Amino acid sequence: MSNAPQKTAANTTEGTLAEIVSHAKEYGFVFPSSEIYDGLAAVYDYGPNGVELKNNLKQLWWKAMTQLNQNVVGIDAAIFMHPLTWKASGHVDGFSDPMIDNLDSKKRYRADVLLEEKAAEYEKNGEIARAETLLAEMGRLLTIEDLAGVKQLIIDEKILCPISKTGNWTDVRQFNLMFSTQVGAVAEDSNKIYLRPETAQGIFVNFLNVQKSARQKVPFGIAQIGKAFRNEIVARQFIFRMREFEQMEMQFFVRPGTEDEWYDKWKATRMRWHQVLGLPADKLRFHDHEKLAFYAKAAVDIEYEFPFGFKEMEGIHSRTNHDLTQHQEYSRKKQQYFDADIDPETGKAYGNYIPFVVETSVGADRLFLATLCQAYTEETITEGEGEKEQTKTRTFLKLHPAVAPIKAAIFPLVKKDGMPEKAEEIFNSLRHDFRVIMEERDAIGKRYTRQDLIGTPFCIVVDGQTLEDETVTVRHRDSREQTRMPISELRAYIGEAVSFSRIFEKL
Ligand code: ATP
Repeated sequence: MSNAPQKTAANTTEGTLAEIVSHAKEYGFVFPSSEIYDGLAAVYDYGPNGVELKNNLKQLWWKAMTQLNQNVVGIDAAIFMHPLTWKASGHVDGFSDPMIDNLDSKKRYRADVLLEEKAAEYEKNGEIARAETLLAEMGRLLTIEDLAGVKQLIIDEKILCPISKTGNWTDVRQFNLMFSTQVGAVAEDSNKIYLRPETAQGIFVNFLNVQKSARQKVPFGIAQIGKAFRNEIVARQFIFRMREFEQMEMQFFVRPGTEDEWYDKWKATRMRWHQVLGLPADKLRFHDHEKLAFYAKAAVDIEYEFPFGFKEMEGIHSRTNHDLTQHQEYSRKKQQYFDADIDPETGKAYGNYIPFVVETSVGADRLFLATLCQAYTEETITEGEGEKEQTKTRTFLKLHPAVAPIKAAIFPLVKKDGMPEKAEEIFNSLRHDFRVIMEERDAIGKRYTRQDLIGTPFCIVVDGQTLEDETVTVRHRDSREQTRMPISELRAYIGEAVSFSRIFEKL
């Protein structure tokens, strides 16, 4: 086996959404839900490689939040909550999206999304001011809930249904996004409960339980990863907009008056986190909300440039003390915190107050999709020499080794001469520390290709020389280079590449 690097790539390209969707299915990342029954719109299942990648992303977030910050602790609240929670939070009365139907195609759209897409079109054509004016006007109309005005704006902008190509629209109506079900055996209205549309409220209602039991002092945060459910009007763009999805949220409780400082800090920290994980700076941007909730002080999205344009991946919100105040009112239980620190201005303790909250909320599925889109690479390579030279396309996932589903694949070069036994010995020595696999089937080139397609950073090959001197070749996914290495060094070598600490050091 040669140690010489193979010829370098002529060029690389990114994938389209269609390519990514089909790759995700074929290689065990994401399947349509209940596919044998033709699927269920906007619901997806994660396959063997998908679940590993998603778990790694979640762990990275969890550890970055809780392990790196002494003042952030976690919880895992139930999906079902007392129905008054959603009255207090405003979701029963106000958690809705403006929808509009096209009378010819009978298709339903989100009115704000139609307008945002129009603005994106202006932006693409360099008409930045026009895009900004449109978004500002949309924000204004939505804030004052002028739905007739929103419809008029759609008509004025000559927005047509992409299916029927007509502007024959219904009025704009609000559509509540919460799913409901019943508790107990009798289906009565009083037994109605909701599937949580966000994980945040599980944090708010536990604010004092956590503060006291974890002996936290303001400022401190509570982190949670869990499922959320929304009856989305428009189900498209793969796992970007699902009806059942997963959120990674952190509510950070601060002393009133310090919220702007913490908002800026978390904004910067979260942006850096995405970049350190491998999303390039030029494909990420901040986008301030056009429409602020009446209680919010500030809200910004971190957007990633998906194959279908820049779209929200994470929201960072300065939510004042609105949620805790609401829960205090509805539950009739004080949600106050006693701050014993001395206020330098008055010389007295800050005393009792309801803390202000800065929230960071990222969708695990949108982060997964961004990671997959970013990793998907098609490369033109030239192999062989002279008459045997041929050009072909290689597809591989350039995943950060720390999040790759499988860290290393171990191959005996041939299925004889003691090579499979040696490979198994190496597999057994690594499997306690890393997710590794062993493969004997097919020619070595085919085995490399299979691992490239799922983003395995290292392929370890046991060959004739291994049996003589206890060395193996390690083939690197991105460069396709091979290096020879003693078996005894493998654990440290892989460990270094996949280590979370290398990522955390850069945060
Ligand atoms: P959008 O405007 O795209 O509907 P949102 O502003 O309603 O999203 P938030 O309520 O701020 O979203 O939720 C926080 C995060 O949860 C989002 O940034 C996103 O990553 C994720 N998220 C929200 N809705 C969905 C969904 N339907 N499918 C997948 N992820 C979602």
